[in-house]
Amino acid sequence: MIYPIVKYGAAILEKPSAPVTKFDDALAKLAGDMFESMYAAHGVGLAAPQVGISKRIAVIDVTFKEDPDAKIVLVNPEIVHVEGRITSNEGCLSLPEFREKVTRPRRVTARAQNLKGETFEVTGEELLARALLHETDHLNGKLYISHISALKRDLIKRKIRKLAKAGEW
Ligand SMILES: [Zn+2]
Repeated sequence: MIYPIVKYGAAILEKPSAPVTKFDDALAKLAGDMFESMYAAHGVGLAAPQVGISKRIAVIDVTFKEDPDAKIVLVNPEIVHVEGRITSNEGCLSLPEFREKVTRPRRVTARAQNLKGETFEVTGEELLARALLHETDHLNGKLYISHISALKRDLIKRKIRKLAKAGEW
């Protein structure tokens, strides 16, 4: 099932999601549906609040279907190590059409549970590091625009208000 993507302005995107406690078939189905929804929206990462579900689960595939082994499901993730800094363009499916330069750690380790509830760690650099941080942020109710200057953020918000007024958001 392909979910519509929740856009910026919805309250669910700015509140922390609830921890996952049940590792059942419904959770596995949700993860599968989230991959499908992410690919349909041409994204490389998606967090449950972006499909209207306030639960701590996110999916990532920085290869966009090229490498099946690159698919990552993060349940209850936390960032346990960061290293270095790198500035790169970043976007978000909940803020379509916008992209901004965001400075983030270059190398990141996240600890999470898989769909069986087993704990694992994943370390990524550059795009994967960025995705791990971006998706974990989502589960904490934080959007990437919180990492840019207030001036740039206000500009984006103003543009979105305009689009919303025109019924285009
Ligand atoms: Zn996002």
